[in-house]
Amino acid sequence: MNALLKDGATDDQTSRLADTELHPAWKPDEPERILVCKNCQHLVTTTQERIEVRGDHEHTFFNPHGILFHLGCFHRAPGCITDGALSLEFTWFAGYAWLLASCMQCHQHLGWWFMNREKDTFFALILSRLQERPSQL
Ligand SMILES: [Zn+2]
Repeated sequence: MNALLKDGATDDQTSRLADTELHPAWKPDEPERILVCKNCQHLVTTTQERIEVRGDHEHTFFNPHGILFHLGCFHRAPGCITDGALSLEFTWFAGYAWLLASCMQCHQHLGWWFMNREKDTFFALILSRLQERPSQL
């Protein structure tokens, strides 16, 4: 289902992007870094998992309570657990339903997991709740 995320620039990329608007934001010559939960240092994801959604890796949104969130989009975040029922209410990405995503270790709320009808999925994580580190540590 996520085959397009591994593709390079192919001839049909434009039409596929029009469907999903997801593509990698990671550059192959960048050293990979890990992103850990700032609260408990649990490994959440890596810089290789960065993707662009609707043309940007980073997005800033207000929730219905007026709280501002600065988010980064990631293909996978193995250190997160998702919880609750899929909801389209107040979704920030039209066509995508969401679940809450929390740190697997300390259960701090780290962001949201999104899925559309084509089963394209990604995580949008609150960047201020993550800490970047070299992957060698
Ligand atoms: Zn944690």
